Amino acid sequence: MTAGHTTAFPFSLPAQPEHAAIPPARADVVVIGGGIIGVMSAWYLRERGLSVVLCEKGRIAAEQSSRNWGWVRQQGRDPAELPIMIESMRLWRGLAAEAGGDLGFRQTGVLYIANRPADLARHEAWAKIGGEHGLDTRMLSAAETRAMLRDPGDWPGGLAGGMWTASDARAEPWIAVPALARALARRGAVVAEACAVRALDIAGGRVAGVVTERGRIACDTVVLAGGAWSALFLGRHGVTIPQLSVLSSAAATVPLPEHFAGAAVDRHLAFRRRADGGYTLAPGDFHEVFLGPDALRHARRFLPHVLADPPGHRILSAAPAGYPDAWRTARHWGTEEVTPFEQVRILDPRPNPRALARAAEAFGRAFPTLGRPRLARAWAGMIDTMPDVVPVVDQMPDLPGLVVATGFSGHGFGIGPGMGRVVADVVAGRAAGHDLSRFRFARFSDGSKPVVGPAL
Ligand SMILES: Cc1cc2nc3c(=O)[nH]c(=O)nc-3n(C[C@H](O)[C@H](O)[C@H](O)COP(=O)(O)OP(=O)(O)OC[C@H]3O[C@@H](n4cnc5c(N)ncnc54)[C@H](O)[C@@H]3O)c2cc1C
Repeated sequence: MTAGHTTAFPFSLPAQPEHAAIPPARADVVVIGGGIIGVMSAWYLRERGLSVVLCEKGRIAAEQSSRNWGWVRQQGRDPAELPIMIESMRLWRGLAAEAGGDLGFRQTGVLYIANRPADLARHEAWAKIGGEHGLDTRMLSAAETRAMLRDPGDWPGGLAGGMWTASDARAEPWIAVPALARALARRGAVVAEACAVRALDIAGGRVAGVVTERGRIACDTVVLAGGAWSALFLGRHGVTIPQLSVLSSAAATVPLPEHFAGAAVDRHLAFRRRADGGYTLAPGDFHEVFLGPDALRHARRFLPHVLADPPGHRILSAAPAGYPDAWRTARHWGTEEVTPFEQVRILDPRPNPRALARAAEAFGRAFPTLGRPRLARAWAGMIDTMPDVVPVVDQMPDLPGLVVATGFSGHGFGIGPGMGRVVADVVAGRAAGHDLSRFRFARFSDGSKPVVGPAL
């Protein structure tokens, strides 16, 4: 870590951002969004020798990329994501050395706990896919799962067995992404925090640059990695993507003895050992959705998720003011106006205290020797979700010069380095090395049948 900079979470916007670079008038590529996808795309664009400006409206990693559970998992991935994730795992192994600091990356394994035989059958089907890709995924009996968890107590929801991938990993989100952004700046990218991109600058039917709150930047290509804000940004240019932001709550316990070094999840509880000695806890599969214009417009596409697991979803009537899909959030604006991106620099939703209390209770029952843990802090993040839970990574057909990488649907942290490498090669006109057809934008309009990726 660079001397003088500490990384404290949750991030707020200090008067003087850490990255206060003045954006130049021209670059080869402008990246919108300072989350893991934007940072890693910029990282590999620099490696390709391109000049890059990364614009972040608030703070680097202040939204999803610091708020996630910190799981770096291959297990349970969509088959189209898996080869990129396997590459990502290889990249993670070298990143700390390249970034010049510990990112908390440790291959301590990921365990999916099956509460019921039906869960076990679903995991078994995935384990075959893992095996075909050469992963070390294996199924565990109930007794083996209990032994791995060091003989837990009363497992809430039942314990029928598990699926385990020892090579899966963890990393520390609120340390890793800011550290990578610092290293990115040292590698010659211009990183500008508190610099919202208001709109694309379009000339002759193609992208010619961006208009930021600090002026225009001319460029050949723009990469949009705006997380929960991408749909709003694209909507301003007449492009509709069926993306919703879904609230997910999490909490950090105080330091506790190490009972399990990796990460584990079932329907009720997700937990991951952190480098600081605590655990990150969350309700296993529980999300909250705000009703808003986009939610209603795309309801038909998302309804199957809600109907498949009603207890796993809670519908809330309206998002707080200024959220991307709040009723009153502006959908159109001029480039001289203050935009929704400047009005909400950091999406910092209120976590659901009841859901977190249930998670802490379940953890205490599962590990009676540790007991119900004291929570040091709680937070929530807005997950950018697509109806088929895989992202859009594509050049926009109607806006030449725009590459979109968004909609990572709750699993973009682990795959960030691999996807960043892919995005950089798409921009540079090189072969991506993987089949990206699953991530095409046209899948929502070309009449193809939606194929929903695997859930937890
Ligand atoms: C509670 C929770 C748990 C999760 N757990 C995991 C996990 O364990 N493993 C995993 O792999 N993934 C996990 N995820 C998902 C993962 O965090 C995201 O998929 C990933 O961080 C997405 O990165 P991103 O860069 O696309 O988006 P973000 O991190 O959201 O970054 C987008 C950035 O774009 C900026 N921006 C938007 N519009 C503009 C604009 N117009 N101008 C300038 N800047 C703009 C925003 O301010 C934001 O900082 C979790 C997410 C949450 C919320």
